[in-house]
Amino acid sequence: MSPFITSIFFILGVFTLYQVLYDWIKSLLHIKKINLSDNVFNSWFGVLYMLVFIFSMQASLVGRSISWEFMNFQIIALVFCAYFLNIRLPYYFFVPIVLVYMVFNDSIGYWQSWCHAFSLMSAYWTMNYLRRHETNNHPFINYILAGTFFGSLMWFFVKLKFSLTWSTFFQEWFYLIIFEILLYSYVTMILRDSEIKLHLLDFANHDALTKIENYAAYTSEMKYLFSASTHNRLNMSMMMFDIDHFKQVNDTYGHLAGDKVLQQVAEVVQTIIAANDPKVKFYRTGGEEFNVLFPGYDLKSTELIVNEIFSAINHLDIVIGDKHIKISISMGVSQISKKDEVPNDLYKRVDNNLYHSKENGRMQITVN
Ligand code: GH3
Ligand code: MG
Ligand code: MG
Repeated sequence: MSPFITSIFFILGVFTLYQVLYDWIKSLLHIKKINLSDNVFNSWFGVLYMLVFIFSMQASLVGRSISWEFMNFQIIALVFCAYFLNIRLPYYFFVPIVLVYMVFNDSIGYWQSWCHAFSLMSAYWTMNYLRRHETNNHPFINYILAGTFFGSLMWFFVKLKFSLTWSTFFQEWFYLIIFEILLYSYVTMILRDSEIKLHLLDFANHDALTKIENYAAYTSEMKYLFSASTHNRLNMSMMMFDIDHFKQVNDTYGHLAGDKVLQQVAEVVQTIIAANDPKVKFYRTGGEEFNVLFPGYDLKSTELIVNEIFSAINHLDIVIGDKHIKISISMGVSQISKKDEVPNDLYKRVDNNLYHSKENGRMQITVN
C-alpha cells in the first residue's frame, strides 16, 4: 500500500483513539463524580495526548537526515488542537514546549528551524482565532486557506534546512492539504455523533415537561449519594411532595392547564433551591410527585428550605388565561439512619411520611 494511503489511516486512527480514550476517561470521571469542567479536561487531555504523539513519533528520527518525515502528522496534530479542540495555548506555555522540542530534535541551532517554529506558532494562533471567530458562512474556506498558507510556509523552511527538492516540497505540501481536508470532514462527523450522544443522555435524564431531572436520574444519583453518605458517615435527608387533589385541577381546568401548573411548580422549587444551595437535587419522580435530595443535611438544616418550598407552593397564584388556580402540597421528610441498608429504606420512610400527611388532611409536612 502506498505510504500516502497508510498515512491517511494512521491519522484517522490517532483521532479515533483520541475520541475513544476521551469518552472513556470522561465516563470514568463521571462515575467517580469528579467534577472537572469540560474545557479544562479537553485542554489538558488534548495537549498531553498530542505531545506524547508528536514526541514519540519524532524520537525515532532525531538527528537523521529524514527527520522531517513525520512533519505532516505533527502539523495535523497541531491543527487538531488549535482548530477542532479549540485549545487556547498562551505563549508562556507554547514557547517553552517549542523550545524543548527544538532541543530534543537537535534543531535549535538552525535559523530555518526558528523560522519554522515561528510559522508553526502563528499557524496555531491563527487557526485558534479562526475557530473562535467562526462565522456561519464558509468556515471551511477560511480553515483551508489558513492551512494551505501556513503549510507552505512551514514546508518552505524545512525545504531550505534539508535542501529538499521542489518536487518533494510540492508533494508534501499537497499531502498536507489532503490531510487537512480529511481531518475536517472526519472530525466534523465524529463531533456530530458525540453531540447526538450527549443530547440523548441529557434527554434520558430529564423530564420533557418540566425540564428538571427525572426518575431515572433520581435512581442513579440516589444510589451514588446514598453509598457516599453511608461510607463517609455523612448526613443526608430527603423530601418528597405531591400536589393535593391534582386530578381535580385537570378535571376542572383541563390537562393543558394541569401541565402548566406542573411547570410552574417545578420552576418555583428550582429557583428556591438554586438560591439556597445548588448541591440540593430536585427531581420529578412521578406525575405530580417530586423528590428533593439534601446531601450533607440533617433534619434541622433541611427544615429551612423545606418550609420555604412548602409556603411558596401553597401561596402560588397560577394564572392561566383569565383563571387563577390555587394548589396545595403534602410533604414527607426524613433523614438517613444507621439502620438504612439500601436507598429504598430511606425512600420508604419518606413515602410513609408523605402518605401520613395525605391521610391526615393534606397540605402539611410530616417529618421523622
Ligand atoms: P392526592 O391529593 O391524593 O394526591 O390526589 P390527586 O388527585 O393529586 O392524586 P391522583 O393520584 O388521584 O391523581 C394524580 C393525577 O395527576 C392524575 C393524573 O392525570 C395527573 N397527572 C399525572 N401526570 C400528569 C401530567 O404530566 N400532566 C397533567 N396535566 N396531569 C398529570
Ligand atoms: Mg396528588
Ligand atoms: Mg401522586
